[in-house]
Amino acid sequence: MKTDLHAHSRCSDGALEVEELIDRACAQGLDILALSDHDTVSGVDRALIAAQGKLILVPGIELSTTWKNTQIHIVGLFIDNHNQVLIDVINEQNKSRLERSFAIGRKLEKLGFKDAYERTKAQAGENAIITRGNYARYLYSIKAGCSIDDAFNTYLKRGKKAYVKTEWISVEKCVQTIKAAGGIAVLAHPKRYEITNMKLKELIADFKACGGEAMEVSNCQQKPDERQYLARLCQEFELYASMGSDFHNEGTYRELGMNLELPNDVTSVLDSPIAKSFLASRNN
Ligand code: AMP
Ligand code: MN
Ligand code: MN
Ligand code: MN
Repeated sequence: MKTDLHAHSRCSDGALEVEELIDRACAQGLDILALSDHDTVSGVDRALIAAQGKLILVPGIELSTTWKNTQIHIVGLFIDNHNQVLIDVINEQNKSRLERSFAIGRKLEKLGFKDAYERTKAQAGENAIITRGNYARYLYSIKAGCSIDDAFNTYLKRGKKAYVKTEWISVEKCVQTIKAAGGIAVLAHPKRYEITNMKLKELIADFKACGGEAMEVSNCQQKPDERQYLARLCQEFELYASMGSDFHNEGTYRELGMNLELPNDVTSVLDSPIAKSFLASRNN
């Protein structure tokens, strides 16, 4: 079963509507796709409907957390997107997100980008949760960078002029919330944080102690040996292994379902009891 367990739509900072995302996933030959928008599940019900007869849609979310002063992303998979504990945390988190996106907008205004928040919001869409990814895409669209990445690195990255620090929920609260919603917590893109390997091990140990059960091992673009290194960590900490493209938009090196095979020596998150019972219910 070709699987991708990390992808974004226009409900947060992806460029495609959920229906378009699902059609693209089908065109890439995917059998299983998780929708994991940032701090929102607003696209999940629509996605479940759009996926009928096309592929198995896994309800998911990518939550931002703060761990020892670093922003860490945790993906929740196989969640009940109507769970009240989850909805309450999402609402709380979105207050921080909104305040932060206004603050980023004010900083960009000072740098000469008129109505930065309003224009980013207009481009992102009425119901989108705004992340720095949306700002980066807006800045690129007005040629304030030679790529989305470049705009991000010039203005929005930690230490840059429009960066705004935010206190997200803790790893513990995040994992507990995902569990309350019946899901599995997956540590997202572990090698994308600017921390040493020793710190990463500390993070994984804390995550596991909080009840975290899986980590992403396969992403579509990884440095040589990175996947093998993550597979070793996954075994060492007895976690399930996940695979996700973190697809946002076309035109980058990230593509739905691309290059996501798991190494042989790890146990796939699809083999966890929660995933198995979810998949069994979809196949009936
Ligand atoms: P936030 O959660 O608001 O801090 O924004 C994080 C999002 O910014 C990520 O999910 C990506 O979509 C985007 N992002 C992070 N790093 C980069 C980068 N180097 N270039 C472009 N976009 C990025
Ligand atoms: Mn993003
Ligand atoms: Mn992320
Ligand atoms: Mn993501």
